Amino acid sequence: MSLKERYEKVLAALARTSSTSNPATLIVVTKNHPAQLVAELIDLGCQNVGENRDQEASAKQLEVANLRPDSQLNWHFIGQLQTNKVKSVLRYACAIHSIDRPSLVHELGKQLEKFDRKIDGFIELNLTGDPGRGGVMPENLEALAEEVLNLNRVNLRGLMAVAGLGEDPRKEFQRVLDLQSVLLKSAPYATALSMGMSEDYEIALEMGATHIRVGSKITGPRAY
Ligand SMILES: *Cc1c(COP(=O)(O)O)cnc(C)c1O
Repeated sequence: MSLKERYEKVLAALARTSSTSNPATLIVVTKNHPAQLVAELIDLGCQNVGENRDQEASAKQLEVANLRPDSQLNWHFIGQLQTNKVKSVLRYACAIHSIDRPSLVHELGKQLEKFDRKIDGFIELNLTGDPGRGGVMPENLEALAEEVLNLNRVNLRGLMAVAGLGEDPRKEFQRVLDLQSVLLKSAPYATALSMGMSEDYEIALEMGATHIRVGSKITGPRAY
């Protein structure tokens, strides 16, 4: 299958599964793929890409701006974000899906203030029980949401999660839905759900994902 066929296959599943009045957003995860592939995706009509490392993403964004100077592409930052990378990420990203700790919220506040701007944000949930992985532990969600809401410079959109390896994605996404009620108490408008990847995006769509992050099913295998 060509890139076009793989991209259109996911778009077709999205059209089938998500509501026609409010379709989910497809974010094509382009990590470990060159700027040229992003340019080809733009030519196919892609409007949203996701990256998980600042060093790679910031260079790629500049290259893509040269390859397709007239394109309006939204760059979503989806990976663990170190505070010393925040300033760089804010240069190109429209949204950060991986807000997971107070120190990151504080740095976001500081840099957004400096540049007098706002950004869309998702709080990432850690569903694994392993604090070494990205995401906030469910018991700390409420407190972290308060910190984000106090900033006024992050448009809190909702929650992000990655289903654990070897876990039943249905159960994992159900946990996200259960935890969503915690967030909606303090931020009733933060209804977005960034969940679903190559292996489970159809289930995620069925369960109400508003943003799916699909990499290899569209781009092909990543070269490391
Ligand atoms: C890499 C990555 C994806 C996409 O993974 P695929 O399995 O290739 O679809 C989605 N979300 C996050 C956070 C990622 O790091």
